[in-house]
Amino acid sequence: MKTVLITGAYRGLGFETARQISERGWKVILTARRRDQGTSAATKLKNTSFLELDITNEASVSKAAKKLSELDVLINNAAIVPEGDENILTIQPELMAETIATNALGALRVSQAFLPQLLKSSSGRIVNVSSGAGQLNDMGTWAPAYSASKTTLNAVTCLLAVALKEKGIVVNSVCPGWCRTEMGGAGAPRSAEQGAEGIVWLAMDAPQNKTGLFWRDREVIPW
Ligand code: NDP
Repeated sequence: MKTVLITGAYRGLGFETARQISERGWKVILTARRRDQGTSAATKLKNTSFLELDITNEASVSKAAKKLSELDVLINNAAIVPEGDENILTIQPELMAETIATNALGALRVSQAFLPQLLKSSSGRIVNVSSGAGQLNDMGTWAPAYSASKTTLNAVTCLLAVALKEKGIVVNSVCPGWCRTEMGGAGAPRSAEQGAEGIVWLAMDAPQNKTGLFWRDREVIPW
């Protein structure tokens, strides 16, 4: 039985990803920075335990990493769209920096912290939940700080993929599509179940030789 850890997983796509993976018999470590919501979410799923983890807090990340001896797959799912993330012409640069600190550097911090466990796995994987909003070939006007943070996350994916290739750990980004969650809103065309499918596929089913790529619906998409 393999073990997967998911950040920001008490609701939305993180929770749905945890549900689908746990249904297939893997051991799931559901993490969240909110202890009550995380504990309650974990009790709803099979094979799932809760671990407190705030991806922006170094002490929280290293404390969580010390509690786990084995890990096969890390899913960096937690992210924010901050208030006021509206217009690149007027946005406070600090807001963009804070968003990158959470969405991209948080994922990097967690990846570094759990690397010793992933290196022990025979098929280690890091799945970074990114977004089409971060695609440089198709930049829009929506949420500039969030968009830049996902572009940065994609760079982190490429850098980690190259650095870890010889060690057998594969690292990929995935866009779940626009989904009905607290972040995506009620008007999104996809359900959380549909959005999580691509994440679950990369975590459990994608060939182990695919690394340093950006995926949506099991197909490679441009950066
Ligand atoms: P939600 O807003 O529903 O969930 C985001 C989760 O991240 C929450 O559980 C939140 O917890 C957590 N989180 C935020 N900051 C931190 C932190 N510092 N430490 C730990 N947890 C944190 O969003 P979705 O489920 O929709 O999004 C999941 C992923 O999918 C994100 O990476 C998002 O960018 C991506 N995505 C989503 C799309 C969509 O349409 N929904 C489209 C494309 C990509 P808390 O309540 O504590 O803040």
